Amino acid sequence: MTPGAVVRPASTEEVSRILRFANDEAITVIPRGGGSSLQGEVIPKADSIVVELMRLDRMALHENLRSVTVGAGVTYGVLDKFLKPNDLWVPIYPESSLVCTVAGNVAVNGAGPGSSTYGSIAEMVLGLEVVLPNGEIIQTGSEANPNAPGPFMRYAFGPDITGLFIGSLGSLGIITKVSLKVFKRMHHFDYNTYGFDDSSKAERFLLELRNNDVNALFATLYEGRILNFFMDMLGDEYGIPKHEWPAYTVSVTIGRTREDQLISDAEEAKRICSELGGEVIGVRELPRGEWTDRMWVFARSSYAHGWHWRILYHHQTPINWHKSIDEIWKVMDKYGLLGHTAGFLTDHSSYNLYPMIFFDPADKEEEQKARRAHAELALRLYETGAVPFKLAPYWVDGVKDLERYIEFVKSVKRLLDPKGIMNPGVMAGV
Ligand SMILES: Cc1cc2nc3c(=O)[nH]c(=O)nc-3n(C[C@H](O)[C@H](O)[C@H](O)COP(=O)(O)OP(=O)(O)OC[C@H]3O[C@@H](n4cnc5c(N)ncnc54)[C@H](O)[C@@H]3O)c2cc1C
Repeated sequence: MTPGAVVRPASTEEVSRILRFANDEAITVIPRGGGSSLQGEVIPKADSIVVELMRLDRMALHENLRSVTVGAGVTYGVLDKFLKPNDLWVPIYPESSLVCTVAGNVAVNGAGPGSSTYGSIAEMVLGLEVVLPNGEIIQTGSEANPNAPGPFMRYAFGPDITGLFIGSLGSLGIITKVSLKVFKRMHHFDYNTYGFDDSSKAERFLLELRNNDVNALFATLYEGRILNFFMDMLGDEYGIPKHEWPAYTVSVTIGRTREDQLISDAEEAKRICSELGGEVIGVRELPRGEWTDRMWVFARSSYAHGWHWRILYHHQTPINWHKSIDEIWKVMDKYGLLGHTAGFLTDHSSYNLYPMIFFDPADKEEEQKARRAHAELALRLYETGAVPFKLAPYWVDGVKDLERYIEFVKSVKRLLDPKGIMNPGVMAGV
């Protein structure tokens, strides 16, 4: 859809003036960062104003506060380059890091490599500067106090107002600045693969890595058949040796700031694997590829192959990983569709899965079939206890026991955006 206008503000004040005007005239606004969202949230509506935020590109490091503040146009790639000379990093990277903005990722509450230890990006956020739909500017976290030395505490001044905007998909206001935690950069890594003959052992392995404080920055559980599929596609590019993969493989990158910690963690991972009756496979190229090229390679490969897909991001507990996998295969079989599933351990006790359902965009019937399969899968996953990390409309359709929650979300939206100008329809269909 062609928008009515595209504007490229260079300051928070300009964003504020744009929103005040749009609100007065009741014009729809679509905030846009890197435009890399995979679920169409930045597709303009007719006669809307697209507010492209890439000119908000300032960064400020607060070294003594272990934090950094970035404008809404700063990508993870640019931020990483900025922090590197100080031997610092933000340890979570979406695989779209070279194009996706930090603010856009906060707006979707993304996750990625690094999340297996640190959680989703929400866990890094110390405060936000937000322009509300009526043009008012608010600051959350410790920086709400203009005398504060900078961002050092998110849960300041009562309820977690910062959290209100995380995952709000541009439907409650425009985030113009994000303040994040920074950490000392890690230089010690261990890469390894661990094989299991049944999913419950592999799931238990993931849980025990967390229980024993093994600093697994990125831990991915692959079904053998999916791993073979990935290896056909990417194995040569990554230099991954041919291997007879077992039924379940866990690919793990452990990272530490100190070498003695790393050695201890690597030994612990092997011990846990053996105690569970698993096999230390020792193919290191797979996790090494995942981690060292975390900012782009795996994701690029999907595009290079020209697929079209519908994706269904969700979180499941590691111990119930198989429940998601079972439902995904059932739906693929029922609709006769192709797809695959990737994912990674995320945070305290969650596993982030993203099944993809492929279709040929030239075949409208197949596309409709993929849509129906997608909607059914969302319902089935919900019934297994899974939760979405984006409150996309297909997660709420038909889920009766969410009605009260959704009504509350709608009332928050009405309160902040009574004219409904901000990216309508993307969050819970509101
Ligand atoms: C190859 C590839 C790999 C990917 N890998 C990952 C991954 O590992 N992890 C992950 O989480 N995602 C991943 N994604 C999805 C995507 O990159 C993320 O959703 C990303 O956070 C979007 O950021 P963006 O700057 O491109 O935002 P956009 O796509 O421009 O916008 C996304 C949403 O946020 C809103 N928005 C954007 N900026 C603002 C703002 N400043 N204030 C308020 N609302 C705003 C938009 O309105 C829209 O609803 C991947 C995408 C691609 C193409």
